Amino acid sequence: MAKRRQIFEGEAKVIFEGPEPGTLVQHFKDDASAFNSRKKGTITGKGVINNRISEHLMTKLGGIGIPTHFMRRLNMREQLIREVEIIPIEVMVRNVVAGSLAERFNLTEGAVLPRSIIEYYYKAGDLNDPMVNEEHVTAFGWASPQELDEIMSMTLRINDFLSGFFLGVGIKLVDIRLEFGRLWEEDQMRIVLADEISPDSCRFWDAETNEILDRDRFSRDLGGIAEAYQEVARRLGILPESAPYDIQGPQIVQ
Ligand code: ADP
Ligand code: MG
Repeated sequence: MAKRRQIFEGEAKVIFEGPEPGTLVQHFKDDASAFNSRKKGTITGKGVINNRISEHLMTKLGGIGIPTHFMRRLNMREQLIREVEIIPIEVMVRNVVAGSLAERFNLTEGAVLPRSIIEYYYKAGDLNDPMVNEEHVTAFGWASPQELDEIMSMTLRINDFLSGFFLGVGIKLVDIRLEFGRLWEEDQMRIVLADEISPDSCRFWDAETNEILDRDRFSRDLGGIAEAYQEVARRLGILPESAPYDIQGPQIVQ
């Protein structure tokens, strides 16, 4: 196979040049990190599962009219996406108290919030992704007020849809982190959902028992991490192509 040009390597994914202009290949790794990369590890099979889960959820969101970067899955670890100009903000929606929100305000983890709260974090690893507000986003020119409005309304729709969707399979969507980007089509620009939606980017708790089914199993040393990711996939009806992990068997050459 021709060597592809690597554009970027992040914590969880590698981005390669795509086959056509305006496309990229998103490769999901097994690497895990927490506490702004101070803790690192590997979760065998995570990349394979996240590729499938993100494909599934982006496709569902596309079905309700949310524009996304997802085009199609290429193989176990890779998907073809539209190249966008990433808005350097992580948009987080919280439905239930967990993590840093509990710490900051001394709240009990698991308390249902009176209404969903949106938070913004500036994507800058060397600064530990500081929390920012709308004023920073617009004053520093990361997004215009119009773009931010659109991002906010898309975020609320995504959160509403996914909250109901996950509840249907016995999972509480505690919180979710989203990334958006600008996509140009001829002279038109629109905001689309980018990056991934997976147990790396969401907090998923079992609806009955509150068992953690996401990356917090890694950050909190709870064990059973791969099994938890598998469980989310299983509940979504996604059957891994080669369960439980991507053991490399003979490959068909096309
Ligand atoms: P990070 O360590 O920054 O979280 P990841 O391992 O998640 O990085 O790698 C994915 C990178 O690709 C992120 O920086 C993300 O902003 C970027 N990205 C995601 N979707 C797209 C897209 N459609 N076009 C361009 N860049 C994207
Ligand atoms: Mg990321």
